[in-house]
Amino acid sequence: MTNDIVSQWPIPKKSKEILIKNGYDYIKKFHGMQLKILFDIGLDWNSIKRIVGILIDNKVKFGYFAPDKSWNDNKWREFIENLVSQGIVSWKDVVLNTLGELNPPQVGTSIASNENFKKQFPKRKTMKEVMKWFYNQNGKCVNCGTRINIEVDHFKSKDEFIKEGKSPDEADTLNNLQLLCKRCNVIKRESHKFGGLSFATAQATLMWIIFYHRPKTYEEFCDLCRRYGLTMASIRFQEAWAMAIWLKKDGKY
Ligand SMILES: [Zn+2]
Repeated sequence: MTNDIVSQWPIPKKSKEILIKNGYDYIKKFHGMQLKILFDIGLDWNSIKRIVGILIDNKVKFGYFAPDKSWNDNKWREFIENLVSQGIVSWKDVVLNTLGELNPPQVGTSIASNENFKKQFPKRKTMKEVMKWFYNQNGKCVNCGTRINIEVDHFKSKDEFIKEGKSPDEADTLNNLQLLCKRCNVIKRESHKFGGLSFATAQATLMWIIFYHRPKTYEEFCDLCRRYGLTMASIRFQEAWAMAIWLKKDGKY
């Protein structure tokens, strides 16, 4: 547990001074804060990442840029219509990609062929039981409700079984499975402490920033990425920036 008093946090002295000068002297002051404020008061990314880590560890709820909170369906429609009218994607692309993401997960490969499941059922009956379970689900992420990019997830993780001194194989029962979307599944993992700070998947957020904000320089793009809660290594930003460079060649950026 980190100390509640900011002056004792393991961050650079200069960053502490900036925080305290702006009234953030105590952890409680961060409740409900917008992440962007940390940038606006002049903190560097390394300090911000550490501060965000401390806030997450202490379960402090803070806000972040999230267009999906204020965007209605019209706004999203306009956005995609813009991409189509600029010839960046076609309607066919939009439809086929969406359909592809709607396709239910391959439980035949991931569950029915798993030895831990197989040994719970009579020979050659596993697939039938797995499909019965599968059809009994409602096909939506139990966390956010989307039908897009659904995966089968262990309700109680293998790690939790290990922590209780049990075998991780015990997690492999149909009763312990649920449907989660890819994003909710990733965020759930403890190793993804910073997951879920951005409003969409990292890939989608990166492209949303490029197409919506149209940053003029790579530096501006990086800054926006951080402000939207993307915490990954900047190599991912460099790769995503290729989109701006490619579009420039086509006169579309
Ligand atoms: Zn979800």
